[in-house]
Amino acid sequence: MSQLRAQPGGGHTGDVILEVAHVTKHFTSSDGQPLPVLDDVSLTLREGEIVALLGKSGCGKSTLLRCIAGLIAPTTGTVTYRGAPINGANPGVAMVFQSFALLPWLTVQANTEVGLEAKGVPAAQRQARALKMIDLIGLDGFEQAYPKELSGGMRQRVGFARALVVEPDALLMDEPFSALDVLTAVNLRSELLNLWGGKDFPTKAILIVTHNIEEAVQMADRIFVLSSNPGRFKAEIDCTLARPRDRRSAEFEALVDRIYGIMTEQRGSSGGPQAPVVEPGLASPSDLPLPHASVGGLAGLLEILNNRGGRDDLPELGRLLTFEVDDLLPIVDAAEMLGFAKVADADIELTAEGKAWVEADILTSKEIFAATAREQAPLVRAIVRALETTKDGTLNERFFFDLLQRAFSEDEARAQLNTAVNWGRYAELFDYHADDDELVLTAPANESAA
Ligand code: ADP
Ligand code: MG
Repeated sequence: MSQLRAQPGGGHTGDVILEVAHVTKHFTSSDGQPLPVLDDVSLTLREGEIVALLGKSGCGKSTLLRCIAGLIAPTTGTVTYRGAPINGANPGVAMVFQSFALLPWLTVQANTEVGLEAKGVPAAQRQARALKMIDLIGLDGFEQAYPKELSGGMRQRVGFARALVVEPDALLMDEPFSALDVLTAVNLRSELLNLWGGKDFPTKAILIVTHNIEEAVQMADRIFVLSSNPGRFKAEIDCTLARPRDRRSAEFEALVDRIYGIMTEQRGSSGGPQAPVVEPGLASPSDLPLPHASVGGLAGLLEILNNRGGRDDLPELGRLLTFEVDDLLPIVDAAEMLGFAKVADADIELTAEGKAWVEADILTSKEIFAATAREQAPLVRAIVRALETTKDGTLNERFFFDLLQRAFSEDEARAQLNTAVNWGRYAELFDYHADDDELVLTAPANESAA
């Protein structure tokens, strides 16, 4: 089977294993409104290739993977395996989860045999296949250990052994390295790539979900970028660097930069799929959700940027701070929303307002922040306006939470409110009283503060 493997990268010719065609997925909010999570997503996985599905947290990657595995059904669109539409569990795939999902009461060997048991493989054969896979994946000697006796990296090896032992046509991985410490993740990733390059690897294609650009560039032959809210196709990038790939090489860094550029692309520049629906001043909290950045994080990033001359390359800044895209991008998005920074390609530049904010004394910086948040952050504005309509300047947080749940999942509605309170509290626009769950307008000092 491994002679089919395209090496180096770029397998556009292998037989199609999986085909996702125009998949849309809606969940239902608590008050019965549809929550669009995936919108018209199509992709193909062929023999011999590793495809990475890259997108920010919450953009629908796991949902798409669950549709492909047949664990949930798409709202519209189809998933086919070797030409046959999937109805129920996909027979051609096995999955590795971020959380390992091992059975704590079973040994390494028994955990590895679980999938074979489900397929009705006889005991003697199960044992032989499990032992072989445990050996291949570097767990020799740990067959009788229990998950709690293992480190995170070893546990994920069991996750790999359990998925690979059934010799799936395609291996699906949902952020398989993101729960591991950096060094363990680096090791396991490169070991997996070595196995993939060898001839005994028991699967013909890999689809990996990740929010980590460098991981995608390290592993994939093709990278499929999803945008957020809802998850949509944003770009497809061929990744043809020779293997093994050196993350410090110029080509590697150039590709990371390019993808950073795509992921931070101004919504609406070049009329892409995220063209602006409305001007910030008129947008509603669901048109322009708050990026989940705290004021502290924002101040930290802008201060560093200011110290570095007010302009920097985002991937460079990410490397300097050892931030991953998931940590850095919400802060960058917040800086853009508030007009404190501008992003073009993969460069971030501090604006005059941003510079004024980081350099001001504490009172002035709160005033600057309050003025811009009221203007530019729709949820902050909506809360202030609603509170201003009441006699005593207070409203139960439930009021906002229920409204937000029309457009967001429960978790996201909670996260939106948390971010708004963090911003509103710093700006002294409003506060949240935990004892009675009230949002309270801060005494209106001087409306015209700027
Ligand atoms: P990712 O894996 O990219 O982080 P997910 O696919 O897990 O994203 O989730 C995408 C969005 O769908 C999130 O807003 C999440 O809250 C929402 N979501 C996921 N599963 C459900 C569900 N069963 N019911 C309602 N909303 C869901
Ligand atoms: Mg996920």
